[in-house]
Amino acid sequence: MEFGVSNGLLSMNKQGGSMNKLILYPTEADFHIAHQPAFIETLRQMGFIGDLFTQRKRGGYLVGSNFFSLITFLGCLPFVPIEPTNEGEFCYIDISPIQKEAQFLASSRLREVRCPKCRNEEKNWQQVVAQWIEDKKNFKYECPKCGHYAPITRLNWKRKAAITRWAIEVHGIYESEAVPNDSLLQALKQQTDVVWDYCYQSEENKS
Ligand SMILES: [Zn+2]
Repeated sequence: MEFGVSNGLLSMNKQGGSMNKLILYPTEADFHIAHQPAFIETLRQMGFIGDLFTQRKRGGYLVGSNFFSLITFLGCLPFVPIEPTNEGEFCYIDISPIQKEAQFLASSRLREVRCPKCRNEEKNWQQVVAQWIEDKKNFKYECPKCGHYAPITRLNWKRKAAITRWAIEVHGIYESEAVPNDSLLQALKQQTDVVWDYCYQSEENKS
């Protein structure tokens, strides 16, 4: 359940969790909710999340009764089971604890980052992230090509990174295999007064 934080970078928890996740996150990096339990209860009432479960090193919420009308699987059928399995991945939901400050969550597949204005590829994005970590409050990205200034959250991370204090993680979803429906994003916005977006995390198979 907890993030592995090293040097301010938030990495996936390799012991528990899944290798592949859909991440829903508020687009204001510093945003957090005053009362997370009420928010979680709303997700339950919507049928997005179901019962709590723990299984070995995994824990979270089973998918709720309305899950498949809030998330669209783009293929024919979801590839992963929605019931706990002893081996391999299954689809469940985890709501991360709220971190003290925004963290950078990146997929191992993150390669390409672009300026939100001129689409220039920022090849030194790792350096950009390091600079942001140094001074999160005052950091502004300056595009070397067009001179556009942007907060780090506005760079085009190609849905492979998020900058946030907390997130909803839907485990067992492969990159681009499923997308949140507008009704889900709208409901999250209504609950929190901020716009939500999504990205994917995946861990590359080393073999
Ligand atoms: Zn630019």
